[in-house]
Amino acid sequence: MITQPKKLVDREMMNTITSGCAACGHPFNLGETVVLACGAWEGPPKYIHENEAVFDPRTSTYVERKCFEAGRNPGS
Ligand SMILES: [Zn+2]
Repeated sequence: MITQPKKLVDREMMNTITSGCAACGHPFNLGETVVLACGAWEGPPKYIHENEAVFDPRTSTYVERKCFEAGRNPGS
């Protein structure tokens, strides 16, 4: 269960997620807001910038904006 889908980037997180944002490919910066989102990638949700995600109330999860607008059918 995802208990903290939205969080501020801190130093620990920068060290943990060295690959950066799964949506835009840019590294995270201190103080940015990121959300745990589903997207076009394979596998479990990943952290991406908040403005690149859409909250889907049907599933109570964040979905990558590109994925959400393209498919409108996440998780099926
Ligand atoms: Zn991003």
